[in-house]
Amino acid sequence: MSARLDATHDPALRSWVASANADDTDFPIQNLPFGRFRRAGSSEPWRIGVAIGDQVLDLRALAPCLVPQARAETALPCEIGDYTDFYTGIHHATTVGRLFRPENPLLPNYRWVPIGYHGRASSIVPSGTPFRRPSGQLKGAADAPALGPSARLDYELELGVLIGADNALGEPVPMARAEEAIFGIALLNDWSARDLQAWEYQPLGPFLAKSFATTLSPWVVTLDALEPFRAPFERGDGEPAPLPYLDSPHNRAHGALDMTVEAWLRTAAMRERGEPAVRLSRVNVREAAYWTLAQLVAHHTVNGCNLRAGDVFGSGTLSGPRPEEGGSLLELSQGGKVAIALPGGESRTFLQDGDSLVLKAWCERPGARRIGLGACEGTVLPAG
Ligand code: CA
Repeated sequence: MSARLDATHDPALRSWVASANADDTDFPIQNLPFGRFRRAGSSEPWRIGVAIGDQVLDLRALAPCLVPQARAETALPCEIGDYTDFYTGIHHATTVGRLFRPENPLLPNYRWVPIGYHGRASSIVPSGTPFRRPSGQLKGAADAPALGPSARLDYELELGVLIGADNALGEPVPMARAEEAIFGIALLNDWSARDLQAWEYQPLGPFLAKSFATTLSPWVVTLDALEPFRAPFERGDGEPAPLPYLDSPHNRAHGALDMTVEAWLRTAAMRERGEPAVRLSRVNVREAAYWTLAQLVAHHTVNGCNLRAGDVFGSGTLSGPRPEEGGSLLELSQGGKVAIALPGGESRTFLQDGDSLVLKAWCERPGARRIGLGACEGTVLPAG
């Protein structure tokens, strides 16, 4: 057990906020995440709040202190400076690589380099924001591409890492200090237009296939709250050890996260019939992620790149090793070849207009209080 556990992690601690004592709440007294909110329907300025149970503690106006979460609107947790999307999900990388390059699914750099690309911060939207189906160049069987709305719109089940400290340009952040640069984590849906992506991605990687919308959940859960759920960073047999700048004793002992993440779908027809969302997949982060959060910080800065407080990293799509554990429809539908049956007779290969996608995540183990990240929701509107 980690020596960094303290009295704040004691599972027996209870709160005077009754809803924080519910067994299934994401936000018990052991997990007090930060976000920005205001009373729903008001034009009050956005302000910092702390989620507890089903309430928001208003840090600016400590009287009256608690705002029911159901009566609050939430914003992005901070102004996002830069957004970097990593690719730590090795099972996702392998499955998707096989669809795009059957002869060469996992490129040889994958096991050495935490692969990433610079994303678009301006189109990161808060949970609950609907967005239009993107249009772009589509290249079907015809000789020339045509402009049109994406027919292969997908989600990506990811964690968002919120950077909390600046490093100076030219000064790498070593592994020993990498976690100090992280304010906390949230859920991130990196919506993806697979038809745009397939045509544009070589040689420089994703561009318009990703930059139309990215959804971030409102509550940033601190690494302190996640301390009881840290796990050893281990590589399977035959996997290379990371280079020394991506290695540390703390990372080996506690670098990984024992966390369950899920994607849920609710179609417009399900909403009309009053039916609940259906779960598409459930994945353990420890199984899915080839690199740890600290390794992402150390790698991102090893060339001297300066991170700034308010930057966001995407973890990359988190998929488990089994086919039903795909963190995207691209994987679950085997590249659009196999439709996924939904309750009520509907089916999906990719997202339809009106579909709502919700990401959830939580941690639990005997001897610790269950905590969660809340939810990250977005709905597809018809193309403009
Ligand atoms: Ca992604």
